[in-house]
Amino acid sequence: MATNGELGRKLRMGLVGGGQGSFIGRVHVTAAVLDNRAALVAGAFSSDAARSKASAADYDVPPARAYGSWQEMLERERALPVGERIDFVTIATPNHMHHPVAKAAVQAGFHVVCDKPLTLTLAEAEDLAAAVAASKSVFVVTHNYTGYPLVRQAREMILAGELGEIQAVRAEYIQGWLRTRLESEGQKQAAWRTDPARSGAAGCFGDIGTHAYNLGRYMTGLMPEAISANLKIFVAGRPLDDYGHAVIRYENGALGTVTASQISHGRENDLRIQIDGTLGSLEWRQEEPNKMLVRHNGKPHAVYTRDPNAPFTNESGRAACRLPSGHPEAFFEAFANVYRAGFDAMAAASTTGAVERRDTIYPNIHDGVEGMYFIEQSVASSRANGGWLPLQHPLARR
Ligand code: NAD
Repeated sequence: MATNGELGRKLRMGLVGGGQGSFIGRVHVTAAVLDNRAALVAGAFSSDAARSKASAADYDVPPARAYGSWQEMLERERALPVGERIDFVTIATPNHMHHPVAKAAVQAGFHVVCDKPLTLTLAEAEDLAAAVAASKSVFVVTHNYTGYPLVRQAREMILAGELGEIQAVRAEYIQGWLRTRLESEGQKQAAWRTDPARSGAAGCFGDIGTHAYNLGRYMTGLMPEAISANLKIFVAGRPLDDYGHAVIRYENGALGTVTASQISHGRENDLRIQIDGTLGSLEWRQEEPNKMLVRHNGKPHAVYTRDPNAPFTNESGRAACRLPSGHPEAFFEAFANVYRAGFDAMAAASTTGAVERRDTIYPNIHDGVEGMYFIEQSVASSRANGGWLPLQHPLARR
């Protein structure tokens, strides 16, 4: 059994969200248990107490630890002996419930894995960051695309200067599922994502634009400086953007673009990033995540595959693989890589009492705050007709 090093046991997980009919909660649980380093032992799976208890059986969580609310879960788990209570809380609820649950969990002494965007508003994100700073909790934000082996490979290559100075970053996340007003037909995931009270100031840009922006920041390490954005609502009657572009100026003079769409016919989860450096360029797509193109003028284009044994695979890429090359790894495994790094930090925190907050492999609380700043500045810039606004938050990852 994987033992989490000196901790010598599995970490115990409590899930908020992930009830029957939901999407990402099940992915979190699958990712968390993939390396046999954690077990789901408790949950408040729904805002509805009866549905929460009914959902517990789907996860083999015993009725005694299937709670009617997240408040009850935190209170009752905290009262259990240290050797029994949960170690960390995963938050897989709609965005408006992230801040209250995360802050209370941190203040109750639990580690937290929270889905993106971090909170409903930037003010909530900053408040949460202060609570995390005052705690001994590890805080992971599931910008899960950072967990792909070839993303980690690219990041190491870029940070080592293999592409030279980075001058352009084009990131796009293109979907088509909100081409019609699915939200008016009772589709649950569409309903809260298009509702400002549950989604936040942005729709598409908050839901998937943040992933695209985060990926560029994670892979290049470039510090942002300013943003100009144009968000649009193309589907009549919808209160939040379903399409948008942003241009980003980075501190080193590089230019970035983020395009996000939920109204492009036939497009599924087409997250794609292209990065141009003075010595080379690369391109990666999450719908074909086990390949990456690296190009140099005058040379044949190189296709890097996800191959833990290849001489071209660097340490970061290798460490993110589980299977030999050619067996496709994808969404679950990448998600599990974010968990794996979080578990390393949780196990270390439990044995040493120390938490590294800045230089983490996993997206951390500061990345979460940056995501919220990106959303709020995009919305504000768009309202000002694309006017340039600052984009470097004081807490930004360096
Ligand atoms: P969903 O609507 O499918 O599921 C949300 C779940 O939260 C439901 O089970 C609902 O009952 C539960 N819930 C709501 N309020 C609750 C409360 N007060 N207490 C307990 N449970 C409560 O939504 P989803 O698509 O799974 O998205 C959930 C979150 O995950 C969102 O923040 C979303 O942005 C994020 N997400 C991230 C990714 C990713 O790739 N990282 C993908 C999808 C969604």
